[in-house]
Amino acid sequence: MAMRILLIEDEPKIASFVCQGLRAAGMVVDHIDNGMDGLTSVLQAQHDLVVLDIMLPGMDGFELLRQVRSVGIATPLIVLSAKTDLPDRLLGFDLGANDYLAKPFFIEELIARIRSLLGRNASHNEEIFSVAGITLNRLTRKADWQDQSAVLSQREFMLLDYLMRSPGYIFSRKQILQHVWNFNFDPQTNVVDVCVQRIKRKLASEKSSKAVFPIESIRGVGYRINQEGMS
Ligand code: CA
Repeated sequence: MAMRILLIEDEPKIASFVCQGLRAAGMVVDHIDNGMDGLTSVLQAQHDLVVLDIMLPGMDGFELLRQVRSVGIATPLIVLSAKTDLPDRLLGFDLGANDYLAKPFFIEELIARIRSLLGRNASHNEEIFSVAGITLNRLTRKADWQDQSAVLSQREFMLLDYLMRSPGYIFSRKQILQHVWNFNFDPQTNVVDVCVQRIKRKLASEKSSKAVFPIESIRGVGYRINQEGMS
């Protein structure tokens, strides 16, 4: 079934570029060009995912997002914004955005992130897949890296699998907590960090100590899989 996407964007050129790109990728796209109508539409919860601009006439994207989440609408939402400073991005995540893509952007990346959020990546169906030198078996939860091999616990597996689905993309602790632990609040503990450490300990032995394990900690934000260090 085609994914139904709601695009809220006031810039006609960007809107038509995004609509065309997403439709070419087989998605159904509805477009709205202002904040108030956008809010009304998101509250009807008839779309699989929302792509939201921040600088909008009527009501800005942050306020729209705040209102949507405050009434419990959990539709996955990607912020698309020229406001690329870290505080803006953190505010977006804080208000409940699932992803934040800076303008200008490549349509291919937007499509990839939409598919990733909706769990429709082709690779999701593969039992065994490799990213950044880590090989993960989804049936047995066995992970391999360098010369090490380990069977991961369910949480360790879910966390690693989650990061590996979008290599290079930074996931906030909050996103990881939501996905792996189903927490919709911050329990003010370091469970995410402890879990990452356990994965590292299982896979990064002395033998492989020269290589840097590809889970990278991004200070103050979260974690990502770093592909760049790989040969
Ligand atoms: Ca705008």
